[in-house]
Amino acid sequence: MRQFLSSIWLLLILSLGTPLAAHPGAHDHHSKEKPVAAEKKWTLVIHGGAGSMVRDTMPPEKDAAARAGLTRALEAGSAVLGKGGSAMDAVSAAIMVMENDENFNAGKGAVFTYKGVNELDASIMDGKTMGAGSVTGARYTKNPILLARAVMEKSPHVMLSREGADEFSREQGLEQVSPDYFATPERWRQLEELKAKKLGWYDIDMKYGTVGAVAVDSDGNVAAGTSTGGLTGKRWGRIGDSPVIGAGNYADNRACAVSATGAGEFFIRLGVAHEICARMRMLGEDTKTAADHVMKELKLLGGTGGVIVAAPDGTATFSFNTPGMYRGRATSVGEMMVAVYGDE
Ligand code: ASP
Repeated sequence: MRQFLSSIWLLLILSLGTPLAAHPGAHDHHSKEKPVAAEKKWTLVIHGGAGSMVRDTMPPEKDAAARAGLTRALEAGSAVLGKGGSAMDAVSAAIMVMENDENFNAGKGAVFTYKGVNELDASIMDGKTMGAGSVTGARYTKNPILLARAVMEKSPHVMLSREGADEFSREQGLEQVSPDYFATPERWRQLEELKAKKLGWYDIDMKYGTVGAVAVDSDGNVAAGTSTGGLTGKRWGRIGDSPVIGAGNYADNRACAVSATGAGEFFIRLGVAHEICARMRMLGEDTKTAADHVMKELKLLGGTGGVIVAAPDGTATFSFNTPGMYRGRATSVGEMMVAVYGDE
């Protein structure tokens, strides 16, 4: 009997000893799981658009506002990943922050069409299941990325457009806003300027403000999301690359997750996001080699912009052929950086 009791004590000491020693002061009942989760790696990379941002001409308050917005988005996504949450949830959380921030061309602060309305495009893809959802020309959903995700999760389809997308959004009970919610004086001014100067079809002085996020979660799953108002002065129901799966957004656990920003027509023609993943999967290239190669091809076609890429092994990269790109990265080892110009 005594022998039995002492082996019970021994077991008790052994089972309590390890977690307490490794984690002094831990007394909640999740304490055993925490050290494991903390060792797991995750990566989050975001962008808020690429373009001709240069230090000398950038107003300091604009620079500061963009960096603050990027930081908030990284914090929102990191909070999800740090708790062991999924890449899909992190991507959605980070993008919602930027959609709600009028400094970026997505959700509130989206650019105007030629007719003076905001038509929103968004897409999301889950690298684990290769499920995807996208919307184009949505006008009433506060957070278009949530609508794209609902298309993926709650409908049998991948892509919905315009009134149909709006109707689906209402049916799903997503938060609706008046179209005025998205409009800002600065975007209106940009439309007026484009009309007055009879500028080309691309954004005035080439600043693309689309937002995007790619993430690798602690289970090694990747996801990608992209959200935009498109281009200032767009007409005829023009659709860019952002809601086109394989062009402006793609995720595949076998390769990587990609979100793009730039002159959409070129990204569609090259199938940029899918092409980067395909090169990694079939040629064994790393994120940087694949992304740089495809961005170079884009430039040869005449296209400008940038991409963010993350792979299931946690490696991640930015690649852009414009002077700058609003971008940021956060990782499980404590990295948290934001940058705007090419030389950062
Ligand atoms: N890629 C977007 C589009 O062509 C624009 C952007 O990146 O800002 O609609």
